[in-house]
Amino acid sequence: MKQFSYTRAETVHDAVAALAANPEAQLLAGGTNLVDLMKYDVARPGAIVDINRLPLREIEELDDGGFRIGALVSNSAVAYDPRIRERYPLLSSAILAGASPQLRNAATTGGNLLQRTRCYYFYDPSTPCNKRDPGSGCSAIGGVNRIHAVLGASDTCIAVHPSDMCVALAALGATVEVQGAEGTREIPFTDFHRLPGDHPERDNALARGEMVTGIRLEGNHFAHHYTYLKIRDRLSFAFALVSVAAALDIADGKIIDLRVALGGVAHKPWRDTLAEAEFAGEAADETTFARVAKRLLSGAEGQGGNDFKIPLAEKTIVRALKQAASGNPQDQTVKAVQ
Ligand code: SF4
Repeated sequence: MKQFSYTRAETVHDAVAALAANPEAQLLAGGTNLVDLMKYDVARPGAIVDINRLPLREIEELDDGGFRIGALVSNSAVAYDPRIRERYPLLSSAILAGASPQLRNAATTGGNLLQRTRCYYFYDPSTPCNKRDPGSGCSAIGGVNRIHAVLGASDTCIAVHPSDMCVALAALGATVEVQGAEGTREIPFTDFHRLPGDHPERDNALARGEMVTGIRLEGNHFAHHYTYLKIRDRLSFAFALVSVAAALDIADGKIIDLRVALGGVAHKPWRDTLAEAEFAGEAADETTFARVAKRLLSGAEGQGGNDFKIPLAEKTIVRALKQAASGNPQDQTVKAVQ
């Protein structure tokens, strides 16, 4: 492991200044991904800036009926907050579908957004990987690619984003609050993570020196018709092969608002708002849901080892929308698909 300096930031301003001053600096919060990456010699920061003392551990109710979740609120604290469980149960459910209780206690909201792909080649410095070493090649293309992307991939990288929480945040239309040396800005959640394009080394829209300070959630109508359905190789403590965050606003059996975000299939939580809008006014039934699934996967392309994900994603979307429409969301303590 490369040697690094360690400092504690006492204010957000200190943290942002430390990032801006040293291109080799990285922020440490829960450390559940960064420390692993350092052990594997994949992340090689020259300076660690510990932000655990920053005042970003609150979940605040906003005047508009929404919530602001500080970047350092643990995944467990979000998932078990009674207000989140009541008004954003999709978010709570998605968090509880991921990792283990111990990891959720340590992992933070901001860190969850910034976790890196679990592509096996990315973690193996002896193999070419454009995300780890730009220009070196992609070992997964033509290699073992069972867990890789079927949507939005490029010829430089076919990795997927590993988060469950972020899939729910994409469906809910959250906003990411960011602080840099120039001030604060807000980024719509669906614009925060990037597709790989020609620069797979960049996972998100943060500029150098910026940090995530919180997430904003607007009021929503999805507390009754929602589900987070995660399909994985093991029944727990495994990343999604395919996951679906589904939310519906229904009146008289017709769709008022449809949200479907997909995990495990792309370099970012995948959401197609134009496709969703096409189904407004249609019957909230299995026939419509099958058409939604076909539409969302219409541009999908397999890499050989992951071809199975395309029909799996279609089936999972239909199953998830049926769960959401019936008001019978997946119980994350029940490992079988309901
Ligand atoms: Fe690296 Fe992306 Fe290829 Fe995986 S898919 S080896 S992360 S470039």
